[in-house]
Amino acid sequence: MANTTTKDKSNIAQLGAQVLRQRALEVDDILGDDCQNLIKAMMSTVQAAGGVGIAAPQVHHSARIFIMCSKPNARYPGAPLMEPTAIINPEIIEYSDEKVKDWEGCLSVPSMRGLVPRHTRIKVRYFDQQGIEHNRELNGFIARIFQHELDHLNGLTFIDQLETTQDLISESEWYKQYCR
Ligand code: ZN
Repeated sequence: MANTTTKDKSNIAQLGAQVLRQRALEVDDILGDDCQNLIKAMMSTVQAAGGVGIAAPQVHHSARIFIMCSKPNARYPGAPLMEPTAIINPEIIEYSDEKVKDWEGCLSVPSMRGLVPRHTRIKVRYFDQQGIEHNRELNGFIARIFQHELDHLNGLTFIDQLETTQDLISESEWYKQYCR
């Protein structure tokens, strides 16, 4: 997921790439070199791009891994500042009925922003980089990032979640209207 500043997108899969439309494969060996090296590469890519999240398909790997690295930004000044965290084989096990619409961008969808409805609270299960299982309740911006990135592992982008194409606007208009 894109933050307000997006820089180097050169090696990130862009909308239309096949890998973004496939269901990514479960990770069997979290502690193995392949997984650990991929996590390292994703962490440096998302930081270089100034994103708040990135999923393995966005770096051309079909694997159920994403990185979350929330930080305060123009839309979410209260967003927690978190170290880049690897989320592996994630599942959402419970959703709140309540949904809220807010703006999202994506490193794979250049120059666009969308007003995307997401569940406000979710209960999730995932494994961390050490292979330890976590069960957590997430809300607000973190819950939004989790849902956006998990969609990538299921072949979806935020555009697929829009209620109407009227909720899709250019990034330059978004800056003008919402980032003053
Ligand atoms: Zn994205």
